[in-house]
Amino acid sequence: MNKIKTLLIANRGEIACRIIKTAKQLNIKTIAIYADSDKNALHCKLADCAYRVGPDSLEKSYLNIDNILNIAKECQADAIHPGYGFLSENADFAFKCEQQGFVFVGPSSDAIAKMAVKDEAKDLMMRANVPTVPGYMGKAQDLKTLTQAAKDIGYPVMLKAAKGGGGKGMRVVHQASELKDAIETAKRESLKSFGDDTLFIEKYLTKARHIEVQIFRDTFGNTLHLYERDCSLQRRHQKIIEESPAMDIPDEVKQQLYQAAINAANAIDYRGAGTIEFLYTSAKQFYFMEMNTRLQVEHPVTEMVTGLDLVHWQLLVADGQPLPLKQNQIKSTGHAIETRIYAEDPYHQFLPSTGTIKAIFLPQGVNYRLDSGIQKGDAISIYFDPMLAKLIVHGENRKQTILGLQLALNQFHLVGLTTNLPFLRNVLNDNAFQTGKIHTQHIEEKLETLLPHPRSPSTDILSLACYIALTHSDESLLEQETYSPWKQLKAWRLNLPNEEDIQLDYLNEAVSFKVTHSKMANAFLHITHLTSNEEVNLSARMQDEIIDANFNTHEMHANFYVDNRLIEIFYEGVAYQFKRKAFSIDELLDKLNPEHSLLAPMPGIISKIWVKAGQSVNKGAKLVALEAMKMEHTVFSPQDGQIKSIRYQIGDQVEEGCELIDFE
Ligand code: ADP
Repeated sequence: MNKIKTLLIANRGEIACRIIKTAKQLNIKTIAIYADSDKNALHCKLADCAYRVGPDSLEKSYLNIDNILNIAKECQADAIHPGYGFLSENADFAFKCEQQGFVFVGPSSDAIAKMAVKDEAKDLMMRANVPTVPGYMGKAQDLKTLTQAAKDIGYPVMLKAAKGGGGKGMRVVHQASELKDAIETAKRESLKSFGDDTLFIEKYLTKARHIEVQIFRDTFGNTLHLYERDCSLQRRHQKIIEESPAMDIPDEVKQQLYQAAINAANAIDYRGAGTIEFLYTSAKQFYFMEMNTRLQVEHPVTEMVTGLDLVHWQLLVADGQPLPLKQNQIKSTGHAIETRIYAEDPYHQFLPSTGTIKAIFLPQGVNYRLDSGIQKGDAISIYFDPMLAKLIVHGENRKQTILGLQLALNQFHLVGLTTNLPFLRNVLNDNAFQTGKIHTQHIEEKLETLLPHPRSPSTDILSLACYIALTHSDESLLEQETYSPWKQLKAWRLNLPNEEDIQLDYLNEAVSFKVTHSKMANAFLHITHLTSNEEVNLSARMQDEIIDANFNTHEMHANFYVDNRLIEIFYEGVAYQFKRKAFSIDELLDKLNPEHSLLAPMPGIISKIWVKAGQSVNKGAKLVALEAMKMEHTVFSPQDGQIKSIRYQIGDQVEEGCELIDFE
């Protein structure tokens, strides 16, 4: 590099780790920044040094431009990489970097500003002859004008925040009666996230696909495309699976898409990596949606098929160097698919979940790429994005890639958090996905069939749980000795009975075992499942969270986690959670009849309360709004009734499952 010797990464999580990796290969010194709870995060450990940027509020830490620039000065950085999200598309930040003499790894503040306001970007694209989704982009924002505009466009329509991103301030409206409420929520969300509540309206294109083109442009005016990505698999209008190349798009249409993307980049004198997003309809029409003036979350699929390092290219362009290849030297080979792993609950509208990562089980014996920012012991909080990692597989063709990804996902598990991993496994097994028949509403339409359902544990799994419970008694967990059953099986000690009763709890149902210790027939334990009346002989070895069990007739290898409350066994893509103890007070409270109370569906901050104590409400009435990661979630009344008390006030933080409202 000519100019870039020290790089500050103004981000966290997997993308900070990803950027550090390439910078290290290029012998660039890396500086990480962290909010308080990220002090021991992976990105801080991987960087050459790490500086505190502020407390755990986004505004005061990763969005704090002054603090970030002060750190950059202090550590004599020459360049700042914003990653994605956070300040990556903030023209003011790019401008201040330029002004204070730091190389901003991204486009000019001017190009960011041109694309940052979505309605203006659309306008610009229309003038550059790039087809756009029809809609209303007027300045007038009063209800009457917006209602007329929606009517003229024709329902369904989509409301979008002019300064939006990440699905915030976005609502699909199917009929006129839903419009007023949707406008209010979208405006509130938009104001909170982007400091502006201007909306624009688009025709909602049903069953379209999200196709985007990766482009690069250097300071010499060379523009290239790096092919397309299909990002149609989404929930809440946000991507969860992306792939390259896109299936079933005629080559001439692809060429038009590439050209439209190149035109868009040229129209704003773009610099660096950018993505032009289109909606592609079944009539083989494509429409410009927006341009992202940064590296995308899903850039790895492009890296896998082209064999290029996009962060390296970003740094080259930022360093003032020309793009290293010509268009005809860039090939796309094979097929790559990325799955995004989120701390979220598919059963609760994919709302973010929180918790502490107690164990990470990684796939073995499959070729995969894992871009991750997490490590065992990390607490996942409501303050930051719930994306934990990305699992990417590259294969000869789509079929091979799906097979590889299925193998990898079946072995990937995180203990301590609700994640979308079981949901992703189901999507990968879905016939429509396998045959490439997908569109942006696919998940929404097939949600019922894609949701993972709890499995009943087999006799083998029950026996393993019993074995683990025995070998990890409270005392043995305290001692934390080796897992030799000879040391730990209580009943083998002299003068103790050689029979034990074990009681566990699976999905709130008691499972009981009677265990006899025997050295006969190569079995350590003889387990009688009192619940199912089955008997099993079992010996096992445990090491590094893997249990190798021998049932005389067959063997079994599974991952497991154990502490004094929980036993979790992960086997063939399914996690079985057993509780070890009688319920705690908290759990008992959780189990109380919820008819008289309303529980928080997710962790978050109370952002709005519509009702008062004493008020009568009908089923479906709006009660409170919860906010997490700047997304607002409305909690509706589950029944007709009278509000007895509201336990929290606006601004209070609540945990998932706590009682928000009592009913009379
Ligand atoms: P954001 O920047 O907030 O992520 P986008 O404009 O990129 O929002 O849109 C996100 C997703 O919402 C798209 O990938 C697509 O699935 C859906 N979407 C956006 N606009 C439309 C539209 N006019 N019709 C149908 N779907 C749309």
